[in-house]
Amino acid sequence: MTINLDHNATTPLRPEALDALVDAAKAGGNVSSVHAGGRAAHARLDQARRDLAEAVNAPTQSITFTSGATEAINLAIMSAVQSGVTRLIISAIEHDAVHATAKAAQERFGVTYEIVPATAEGVVDLDALETQLAKSTEPTLVAVMAANNETGVIQPWLEASQRVRPAGARLLIDAVQAIGKIPFSAGTCGADYVVVSSHKLGGPVGAGALITQGDAPVRAQIVGGGQELGRRAGTENLIGIAGFAAAAQAAVRDVKSFGKLAQWRDRLESEALRARPDAYIAGRDAPRLANTSCLALPGFRAETQVMAMDLTGVCVSAGSACSSGKVRASHVLTGMGLSDAIAESAIRISLGWDTEPEDIDAFLAAWIKAAHRALPRNEMAN
Ligand code: PLP
Repeated sequence: MTINLDHNATTPLRPEALDALVDAAKAGGNVSSVHAGGRAAHARLDQARRDLAEAVNAPTQSITFTSGATEAINLAIMSAVQSGVTRLIISAIEHDAVHATAKAAQERFGVTYEIVPATAEGVVDLDALETQLAKSTEPTLVAVMAANNETGVIQPWLEASQRVRPAGARLLIDAVQAIGKIPFSAGTCGADYVVVSSHKLGGPVGAGALITQGDAPVRAQIVGGGQELGRRAGTENLIGIAGFAAAAQAAVRDVKSFGKLAQWRDRLESEALRARPDAYIAGRDAPRLANTSCLALPGFRAETQVMAMDLTGVCVSAGSACSSGKVRASHVLTGMGLSDAIAESAIRISLGWDTEPEDIDAFLAAWIKAAHRALPRNEMAN
């Protein structure tokens, strides 16, 4: 049996999502058809939009369904750039999807792409952001995520908006790891663009949403039909969307019980540190999601740890990204100013709605054994 401690990558389907997507699959129908089958599908889409809007506390018309958060990020950044934004300020710890889209916008449209640093605890440096904003009056879009996927560190998104707004800039909040894990209100978070993903909160892979506020422009990046109020063409993935909305409702309803995972995460960390005092936990002193731990053991490479855990049936992920077969240190951890030794040896353990305390025991037994085998205690670094 495998033990899934990689919920931040994707979390299993919630029962409510499974029921909703099976119902949608059985009913079928194309939302754009004018006959009864189409009207029923349209009603299901409208209901899903209302359910998601309620879960994230945003107006229904502000929601554009997409194939996931990556597409929503592309839609937000490219829309802003095509509507006059000439400067992007992206926090160092944003997801690769944000950095890659900013880089693509720089290459295609010649916009400026600047990075705002994070503190050693993994929090976006708001003073540095304010200083950066003050340097130019160019139309600017800032990206600050709500919670980091690798460290779980919760970001000061409201304070970010209080610095971004007076400077006349727009704000994109990637709320993918926040929804259902902490209270988050898309309607009052102060952002122009908010991004959400279905499979991170118990819905199916293949659905997500861009939520826009005020006069934030949306320029369709996928053209064809006039679906999603002309903001995103293509027949709606109604099965995925129905599952997504049901999962969002369930995740937000259960947000309090999600907070209880912190007890198990804290036990995992204290026992790992007791066994290996040479280990390091990134962002431990910052406000964090209840479910995430970023555990490094300098000298024991992250990908080797992941493989060792996998052999015992425990699924975790490497904090470092693998690109074209070349493993590089996590940009999030190096962006926090942590050493390469930490960044290259950090794994992410992320708990979820179906985690049991025995999963923590299984991880600890496997990890401590693997750590002692790889780095015998008498060779431990001081
Ligand atoms: N943003 C964050 C913070 C994420 O964790 C992820 C997924 O890893 C994404 C964006 C991309 O989400 P999706 O898989 O829906 O494209």
